Amino acid sequence: MTVNLLDLDLEGLTVFCERLGEKRFRAVQLFRWIHQKGARQFDEMTDLAKSLREKLKTSARIEPLAVVSQHISSDGTIKWLFDVGGGNAIETVFIPEEDRGTLCISSQAGCAVGCRFCSTGHQGFSRNLTTGEIVAQLWFAEHFLRRHLQRDERVISNVVMMGMGEPLQNYGELVPALRVMLDDHGYGLSRRRVTVSTSGIVPMIDRLAQDCPVALAVSLHAPNDALRDTLVPLNLKYPLAQLVAACHRYLAFAPRDFITFEYCMLDGVNDTDACARQLAERVKAHPGAWCKFNLIPFNPFPASGLLRSKPERVQAFARILNDAGITTTVRKTRGDDIDAACGQLAGDVKDRTKVMVRMERNRTLRPHALQVSANTDTGVSA
Ligand code: SAH
Ligand code: SF4
Repeated sequence: MTVNLLDLDLEGLTVFCERLGEKRFRAVQLFRWIHQKGARQFDEMTDLAKSLREKLKTSARIEPLAVVSQHISSDGTIKWLFDVGGGNAIETVFIPEEDRGTLCISSQAGCAVGCRFCSTGHQGFSRNLTTGEIVAQLWFAEHFLRRHLQRDERVISNVVMMGMGEPLQNYGELVPALRVMLDDHGYGLSRRRVTVSTSGIVPMIDRLAQDCPVALAVSLHAPNDALRDTLVPLNLKYPLAQLVAACHRYLAFAPRDFITFEYCMLDGVNDTDACARQLAERVKAHPGAWCKFNLIPFNPFPASGLLRSKPERVQAFARILNDAGITTTVRKTRGDDIDAACGQLAGDVKDRTKVMVRMERNRTLRPHALQVSANTDTGVSA
Protein backbone atom coordinates (compact mmCIF):
# COMPACT_ATOMS: atom_id res chain seq x y z
CA MET A 1 0.00 0.00 0.00
CA THR A 2 1.39 3.40 -0.95
CA VAL A 3 1.44 6.33 1.47
CA ASN A 4 -0.98 9.21 0.85
CA LEU A 5 1.30 12.23 1.08
CA LEU A 6 -1.63 14.47 2.05
CA ASP A 7 -1.57 12.61 5.39
CA LEU A 8 1.84 14.05 6.26
CA ASP A 9 2.96 17.36 7.70
CA LEU A 10 6.48 18.48 6.77
CA GLU A 11 8.02 16.55 9.65
CA GLY A 12 6.21 13.41 8.56
CA LEU A 13 7.24 13.92 4.95
CA THR A 14 10.86 14.42 6.02
CA VAL A 15 10.82 11.08 7.83
CA PHE A 16 9.22 9.47 4.79
CA CYS A 17 11.90 10.92 2.46
CA GLU A 18 14.69 9.85 4.79
CA ARG A 19 13.39 6.29 4.53
CA LEU A 20 13.75 6.60 0.77
CA GLY A 21 17.33 7.77 1.33
CA GLU A 22 16.54 11.41 0.54
CA LYS A 23 17.60 14.57 2.39
CA ARG A 24 15.24 16.99 4.13
CA PHE A 25 15.41 19.61 1.37
CA ARG A 26 13.85 17.06 -0.99
CA ALA A 27 10.93 16.76 1.42
CA VAL A 28 10.59 20.55 1.34
CA GLN A 29 10.56 20.54 -2.49
CA LEU A 30 7.99 17.75 -2.57
CA PHE A 31 5.81 19.48 0.04
CA ARG A 32 5.88 22.70 -1.98
CA TRP A 33 4.93 20.88 -5.17
CA ILE A 34 1.96 19.29 -3.46
CA HIS A 35 0.60 22.18 -1.44
CA GLN A 36 1.82 25.33 -3.16
CA LYS A 37 1.51 24.17 -6.73
CA GLY A 38 -1.26 21.62 -6.32
CA ALA A 39 0.66 18.91 -8.16
CA ARG A 40 -0.95 15.53 -8.25
CA GLN A 41 1.46 13.58 -10.50
CA PHE A 42 5.10 13.01 -9.60
CA ASP A 43 6.13 13.54 -13.23
CA GLU A 44 5.03 17.18 -12.94
CA MET A 45 7.75 17.72 -10.34
CA THR A 46 10.44 18.45 -12.87
CA ASP A 47 13.12 19.62 -10.45
CA LEU A 48 13.11 16.26 -8.64
CA ALA A 49 15.57 13.67 -9.99
CA LYS A 50 13.95 11.13 -12.27
CA SER A 51 15.15 8.33 -9.97
CA LEU A 52 13.31 9.92 -7.01
CA ARG A 53 10.16 10.36 -9.05
CA GLU A 54 10.27 6.67 -9.93
CA LYS A 55 10.70 5.76 -6.25
CA LEU A 56 7.77 7.98 -5.32
CA LYS A 57 5.53 6.37 -7.93
CA THR A 58 5.89 2.99 -6.28
CA SER A 59 5.74 4.12 -2.66
CA ALA A 60 3.48 7.17 -2.50
CA ARG A 61 0.35 8.80 -3.86
CA ILE A 62 -1.45 12.13 -3.62
CA GLU A 63 -5.05 11.18 -3.07
CA PRO A 64 -7.72 13.81 -3.59
CA LEU A 65 -11.33 13.45 -2.45
CA ALA A 66 -13.94 12.58 -5.06
CA VAL A 67 -16.28 15.51 -5.69
CA VAL A 68 -19.91 14.43 -5.60
CA SER A 69 -21.38 17.86 -6.25
CA GLN A 70 -20.67 21.56 -6.32
CA HIS A 71 -23.24 24.27 -5.61
CA ILE A 72 -22.70 27.99 -6.06
CA SER A 73 -24.85 30.38 -4.06
CA SER A 74 -26.17 33.69 -5.37
CA ASP A 75 -23.76 35.40 -2.92
CA GLY A 76 -20.74 33.56 -4.35
CA THR A 77 -20.45 30.96 -1.59
CA ILE A 78 -19.48 27.55 -2.95
CA LYS A 79 -20.33 24.25 -1.31
CA TRP A 80 -18.68 20.97 -2.28
CA LEU A 81 -19.85 17.54 -1.29
CA PHE A 82 -16.99 15.00 -1.17
CA ASP A 83 -17.31 11.23 -1.10
CA VAL A 84 -15.22 9.73 1.70
CA GLY A 85 -16.25 6.13 1.10
CA GLY A 86 -18.45 3.73 3.00
CA GLY A 87 -21.57 5.64 2.04
CA ASN A 88 -20.33 8.82 3.77
CA ALA A 89 -20.01 12.26 2.25
CA ILE A 90 -18.71 15.45 3.84
CA GLU A 91 -19.13 19.12 3.02
CA THR A 92 -16.71 22.01 2.56
CA VAL A 93 -17.74 25.62 2.03
CA PHE A 94 -15.84 28.54 0.47
CA ILE A 95 -16.99 32.00 1.53
CA PRO A 96 -15.56 34.86 -0.55
CA GLU A 97 -15.44 38.33 1.01
CA GLU A 98 -13.87 41.53 -0.21
CA ASP A 99 -10.72 41.29 1.88
CA ARG A 100 -10.45 37.53 2.40
CA GLY A 101 -11.43 34.06 1.29
CA THR A 102 -12.54 31.69 4.02
CA LEU A 103 -12.75 27.93 3.76
CA CYS A 104 -14.99 26.09 6.20
CA ILE A 105 -13.61 22.57 6.63
CA SER A 106 -15.10 19.35 8.06
CA SER A 107 -13.24 17.21 10.59
CA GLN A 108 -15.54 14.19 10.88
CA ALA A 109 -18.17 12.32 8.90
CA GLY A 110 -21.05 13.35 11.15
CA CYS A 111 -20.62 14.33 14.78
CA ALA A 112 -21.07 12.41 18.01
CA VAL A 113 -21.82 15.46 20.16
CA GLY A 114 -25.40 15.69 18.95
CA CYS A 115 -26.32 19.34 19.52
CA ARG A 116 -30.05 19.84 19.15
CA PHE A 117 -29.86 22.80 16.81
CA CYS A 118 -27.28 21.29 14.44
CA SER A 119 -28.07 19.40 11.30
CA THR A 120 -24.78 17.48 11.46
CA GLY A 121 -25.56 16.52 15.05
CA HIS A 122 -28.91 15.14 13.94
CA GLN A 123 -27.21 12.95 11.35
CA GLY A 124 -25.17 11.06 13.94
CA PHE A 125 -21.58 9.97 13.70
CA SER A 126 -19.81 7.66 11.31
CA ARG A 127 -16.07 8.21 11.62
CA ASN A 128 -13.15 10.56 12.04
CA LEU A 129 -11.58 12.00 8.91
CA THR A 130 -7.90 11.30 8.36
CA THR A 131 -5.34 14.12 8.21
CA GLY A 132 -5.24 13.56 4.45
CA GLU A 133 -9.00 13.98 4.15
CA ILE A 134 -8.92 17.20 6.17
CA VAL A 135 -6.02 18.59 4.15
CA ALA A 136 -7.51 17.40 0.84
CA GLN A 137 -10.44 19.81 1.33
CA LEU A 138 -8.05 22.76 1.39
CA TRP A 139 -5.77 21.31 -1.31
CA PHE A 140 -8.71 20.85 -3.66
CA ALA A 141 -10.45 24.16 -2.93
CA GLU A 142 -7.32 26.31 -3.14
CA HIS A 143 -6.11 24.88 -6.44
CA PHE A 144 -9.57 24.60 -7.96
CA LEU A 145 -10.23 28.27 -7.16
CA ARG A 146 -6.87 29.43 -8.49
CA ARG A 147 -7.54 27.69 -11.79
CA HIS A 148 -11.13 28.88 -11.90
CA LEU A 149 -10.26 32.51 -11.07
CA GLN A 150 -7.04 32.34 -13.11
CA ARG A 151 -5.02 33.59 -10.17
CA ASP A 152 -1.43 32.74 -9.33
CA GLU A 153 -1.55 33.98 -5.78
CA ARG A 154 -3.36 32.50 -2.82
CA VAL A 155 -7.16 32.56 -2.82
CA ILE A 156 -7.89 31.10 0.61
CA SER A 157 -6.60 33.33 3.41
CA ASN A 158 -8.60 31.92 6.32
CA VAL A 159 -9.61 28.45 7.45
CA VAL A 160 -12.32 27.75 10.00
CA MET A 161 -12.82 24.24 11.36
CA MET A 162 -16.57 24.84 11.45
CA GLY A 163 -17.84 22.28 8.96
CA MET A 164 -19.14 18.89 9.95
CA GLY A 165 -17.75 17.36 13.11
CA GLU A 166 -16.12 18.22 16.42
CA PRO A 167 -12.45 18.85 15.59
CA LEU A 168 -11.21 18.27 19.13
CA GLN A 169 -12.73 14.79 19.11
CA ASN A 170 -10.42 14.02 16.20
CA TYR A 171 -7.36 15.59 17.75
CA GLY A 172 -4.67 13.21 16.48
CA GLU A 173 -5.62 13.77 12.84
CA LEU A 174 -6.41 17.45 13.28
CA VAL A 175 -3.06 18.69 14.57
CA PRO A 176 -0.89 17.54 11.60
CA ALA A 177 -3.53 19.00 9.27
CA LEU A 178 -3.28 22.36 11.08
CA ARG A 179 0.51 22.20 10.73
CA VAL A 180 0.21 21.76 6.96
CA MET A 181 -2.05 24.83 6.83
CA LEU A 182 0.40 26.92 8.86
CA ASP A 183 3.66 25.74 7.30
CA ASP A 184 5.40 28.37 5.18
CA HIS A 185 6.21 25.63 2.68
CA GLY A 186 2.56 24.54 2.76
CA TYR A 187 -0.32 27.04 2.75
CA GLY A 188 1.51 29.57 4.93
CA LEU A 189 -1.63 30.66 6.76
CA SER A 190 -1.23 32.81 9.84
CA ARG A 191 -2.22 31.25 13.18
CA ARG A 192 -4.62 34.13 13.60
CA ARG A 193 -6.41 33.09 10.43
CA VAL A 194 -6.86 29.42 11.25
CA THR A 195 -9.70 28.89 13.71
CA VAL A 196 -10.63 25.73 15.55
CA SER A 197 -14.23 25.81 16.67
CA THR A 198 -15.21 23.47 19.48
CA SER A 199 -18.27 22.63 21.51
CA GLY A 200 -15.94 22.45 24.51
CA ILE A 201 -13.74 19.37 25.02
CA VAL A 202 -11.91 20.92 27.97
CA PRO A 203 -8.75 18.75 28.17
CA MET A 204 -8.20 19.06 24.43
CA ILE A 205 -8.37 22.86 24.61
CA ASP A 206 -5.39 22.69 26.98
CA ARG A 207 -3.54 20.30 24.66
CA LEU A 208 -4.16 22.51 21.64
CA ALA A 209 -2.62 25.41 23.56
CA GLN A 210 0.61 23.39 23.84
CA ASP A 211 0.66 21.62 20.47
CA CYS A 212 -0.68 24.11 17.95
CA PRO A 213 -2.22 27.29 19.34
CA VAL A 214 -4.39 28.64 16.56
CA ALA A 215 -7.36 30.98 17.01
CA LEU A 216 -10.07 29.43 19.18
CA ALA A 217 -13.84 29.72 18.87
CA VAL A 218 -16.01 28.04 21.48
CA SER A 219 -19.66 27.23 20.95
CA LEU A 220 -21.37 28.37 24.13
CA HIS A 221 -25.08 28.72 23.24
CA ALA A 222 -26.33 28.97 26.81
CA PRO A 223 -25.52 30.98 29.95
CA ASN A 224 -26.18 28.19 32.46
CA ASP A 225 -25.66 24.44 32.76
CA ALA A 226 -29.34 23.49 32.96
CA LEU A 227 -30.00 24.96 29.52
CA ARG A 228 -26.67 24.04 27.96
CA ASP A 229 -27.08 20.40 29.01
CA THR A 230 -30.13 20.21 26.78
CA LEU A 231 -28.57 21.97 23.78
CA VAL A 232 -24.98 20.69 23.84
CA PRO A 233 -25.01 17.27 25.58
CA LEU A 234 -21.25 17.44 26.10
CA ASN A 235 -21.97 19.99 28.80
CA LEU A 236 -22.90 17.13 31.12
CA LYS A 237 -19.24 16.11 31.00
CA TYR A 238 -17.57 19.52 30.82
CA PRO A 239 -19.85 22.07 32.48
CA LEU A 240 -19.69 25.78 31.81
CA ALA A 241 -17.45 26.85 34.69
CA GLN A 242 -14.76 24.39 33.58
CA LEU A 243 -15.17 25.36 29.95
CA VAL A 244 -14.97 29.10 30.50
CA ALA A 245 -11.91 28.62 32.74
CA ALA A 246 -10.20 26.53 30.00
CA CYS A 247 -10.89 29.30 27.47
CA HIS A 248 -9.35 31.85 29.80
CA ARG A 249 -6.25 29.64 30.21
CA TYR A 250 -5.95 29.32 26.42
CA LEU A 251 -5.57 33.05 26.14
CA ALA A 252 -1.95 32.91 27.28
CA PHE A 253 -1.15 30.86 24.15
CA ALA A 254 -3.68 32.20 21.66
CA PRO A 255 -2.47 34.10 18.59
CA ARG A 256 -5.08 36.77 19.28
CA ASP A 257 -5.79 38.50 22.57
CA PHE A 258 -9.32 37.18 22.74
CA ILE A 259 -11.37 34.00 22.50
CA THR A 260 -14.49 34.00 20.36
CA PHE A 261 -17.69 32.63 21.83
CA GLU A 262 -20.29 31.50 19.34
CA TYR A 263 -23.90 31.68 20.37
CA CYS A 264 -26.64 30.31 18.17
CA MET A 265 -29.80 32.41 18.66
CA LEU A 266 -32.85 30.21 19.19
CA ASP A 267 -36.23 31.85 19.46
CA GLY A 268 -37.62 31.61 22.99
CA VAL A 269 -34.89 29.18 24.09
CA ASN A 270 -31.67 31.07 24.82
CA ASP A 271 -32.33 34.59 23.53
CA THR A 272 -33.92 36.45 26.46
CA ASP A 273 -32.52 39.57 28.17
CA ALA A 274 -32.01 37.46 31.29
CA CYS A 275 -29.84 35.02 29.29
CA ALA A 276 -27.72 37.89 27.98
CA ARG A 277 -27.20 39.32 31.46
CA GLN A 278 -26.31 35.92 32.90
CA LEU A 279 -23.86 35.37 30.07
CA ALA A 280 -22.15 38.70 30.71
CA GLU A 281 -21.80 37.89 34.39
CA ARG A 282 -20.30 34.51 33.63
CA VAL A 283 -17.50 35.77 31.40
CA LYS A 284 -16.84 38.78 33.58
CA ALA A 285 -15.99 36.44 36.43
CA HIS A 286 -12.60 36.38 34.67
CA PRO A 287 -10.99 39.82 34.51
CA GLY A 288 -10.23 41.80 31.36
CA ALA A 289 -11.78 42.21 27.93
CA TRP A 290 -10.73 38.70 26.96
CA CYS A 291 -13.57 37.40 24.81
CA LYS A 292 -15.87 38.40 21.99
CA PHE A 293 -19.29 37.10 21.16
CA ASN A 294 -20.44 36.12 17.74
CA LEU A 295 -24.22 35.71 17.64
CA ILE A 296 -25.33 33.29 14.92
CA PRO A 297 -28.97 33.53 13.91
CA PHE A 298 -30.15 29.90 13.93
CA ASN A 299 -30.32 28.34 10.48
CA PRO A 300 -33.38 26.19 10.57
CA PHE A 301 -33.67 22.67 9.22
CA PRO A 302 -36.86 20.64 9.33
CA ALA A 303 -36.05 18.06 12.02
CA SER A 304 -34.91 20.58 14.63
CA GLY A 305 -38.31 21.92 15.61
CA LEU A 306 -36.55 25.17 16.56
CA LEU A 307 -36.93 28.69 15.22
CA ARG A 308 -34.56 31.54 14.51
CA SER A 309 -34.68 34.47 16.91
CA LYS A 310 -36.22 37.65 15.51
CA PRO A 311 -33.69 40.23 14.31
CA GLU A 312 -34.86 42.76 16.97
CA ARG A 313 -34.25 40.14 19.67
CA VAL A 314 -30.76 39.42 18.36
CA GLN A 315 -30.02 43.17 18.36
CA ALA A 316 -31.34 43.60 21.91
CA PHE A 317 -29.26 40.65 23.08
CA ALA A 318 -26.16 42.06 21.40
CA ARG A 319 -26.79 45.46 23.00
CA ILE A 320 -26.84 44.01 26.53
CA LEU A 321 -23.50 42.29 25.94
CA ASN A 322 -21.96 45.34 24.29
CA ASP A 323 -23.19 47.58 27.11
CA ALA A 324 -21.49 45.21 29.54
CA GLY A 325 -18.23 45.89 27.69
CA ILE A 326 -18.16 42.63 25.70
CA THR A 327 -17.61 43.14 21.97
CA THR A 328 -20.45 41.39 20.20
CA THR A 329 -21.16 40.96 16.52
CA VAL A 330 -23.96 39.26 14.62
CA ARG A 331 -22.84 36.81 11.98
CA LYS A 332 -24.09 37.41 8.48
CA THR A 333 -25.69 34.34 7.01
CA ARG A 334 -23.95 33.22 3.85
CA GLY A 335 -24.91 30.55 1.34
CA ASP A 336 -28.22 29.65 2.93
CA ASP A 337 -29.86 29.24 -0.49
CA ILE A 338 -27.63 26.19 -1.03
CA ASP A 339 -27.84 24.92 2.57
CA ALA A 340 -24.23 25.95 3.17
CA ALA A 341 -24.85 28.14 6.22
CA CYS A 342 -23.66 27.27 9.74
CA GLY A 343 -25.26 24.12 11.01
CA GLN A 344 -26.84 23.20 7.72
CA LEU A 345 -24.03 20.93 6.61
CA ALA A 346 -25.37 17.43 6.73
CA GLY A 347 -23.42 15.63 4.01
CA ASP A 348 -24.46 12.05 3.96
CA VAL A 349 -23.59 10.11 7.06
CA LYS A 350 -24.13 6.50 7.95
CA ASP A 351 -24.84 6.93 11.64
CA ARG A 352 -23.36 4.30 13.90
CA THR A 353 -24.33 5.83 17.21
CA LYS A 354 -28.14 5.81 17.44
CA VAL A 355 -28.14 9.56 17.69
CA MET A 356 -31.92 9.89 17.72
CA VAL A 357 -32.21 7.63 20.75
CA ARG A 358 -29.65 9.75 22.57
CA MET A 359 -31.28 13.01 21.58
CA GLU A 360 -34.65 11.87 22.81
CA ARG A 361 -33.18 10.62 26.07
CA ASN A 362 -31.33 13.87 26.67
CA ARG A 363 -34.39 15.93 25.88
CA THR A 364 -36.54 14.07 28.34
CA LEU A 365 -33.89 14.26 31.05
CA ARG A 366 -34.40 17.94 31.71
CA PRO A 367 -37.51 19.07 29.92
CA HIS A 368 -37.95 22.02 32.33
CA ALA A 369 -34.81 23.68 31.06
CA LEU A 370 -36.08 24.02 27.52
CA GLN A 371 -38.41 26.92 27.16
CA VAL A 372 -39.46 26.30 23.59
CA SER A 373 -42.62 28.28 23.00
CA ALA A 374 -45.80 26.29 22.52
CA ASN A 375 -46.13 26.74 18.77
CA THR A 376 -42.65 25.40 18.07
CA ASP A 377 -42.61 22.54 20.50
CA THR A 378 -43.46 19.96 17.92
CA GLY A 379 -41.27 17.62 16.01
CA VAL A 380 -38.21 18.36 18.16
CA SER A 381 -37.13 14.76 18.02
CA ALA A 382 -38.58 14.02 14.60
N1 SAH B 1 -18.31 21.15 16.27
C1 SAH B 1 -17.75 22.44 16.29
C2 SAH B 1 -17.56 23.04 14.92
C3 SAH B 1 -18.63 22.79 13.91
S1 SAH B 1 -20.16 23.62 14.15
C4 SAH B 1 -18.61 23.36 17.15
O1 SAH B 1 -19.69 22.98 17.54
O2 SAH B 1 -18.12 24.44 17.46
C5 SAH B 1 -19.75 25.30 13.73
C6 SAH B 1 -20.66 26.34 14.36
O3 SAH B 1 -21.97 26.29 13.76
C7 SAH B 1 -20.85 26.13 15.84
O4 SAH B 1 -20.73 27.32 16.56
C8 SAH B 1 -22.24 25.62 15.90
O5 SAH B 1 -22.80 25.84 17.15
C9 SAH B 1 -22.92 26.39 14.80
N2 SAH B 1 -24.20 25.82 14.40
C10 SAH B 1 -24.55 24.51 14.40
N3 SAH B 1 -25.80 24.37 13.96
C11 SAH B 1 -26.27 25.60 13.66
C12 SAH B 1 -27.50 26.09 13.12
N4 SAH B 1 -28.48 25.27 12.78
N5 SAH B 1 -27.62 27.42 12.93
C13 SAH B 1 -26.59 28.24 13.23
N6 SAH B 1 -25.42 27.84 13.72
C14 SAH B 1 -25.25 26.53 13.94
FE1 SF4 C 1 -21.20 18.59 16.46
FE2 SF4 C 1 -20.63 21.20 16.44
FE3 SF4 C 1 -22.91 20.27 15.35
FE4 SF4 C 1 -22.59 20.26 18.00
S1 SF4 C 1 -22.68 22.06 16.67
S2 SF4 C 1 -23.40 18.57 16.75
S3 SF4 C 1 -20.42 19.79 18.18
S4 SF4 C 1 -20.88 19.84 14.65
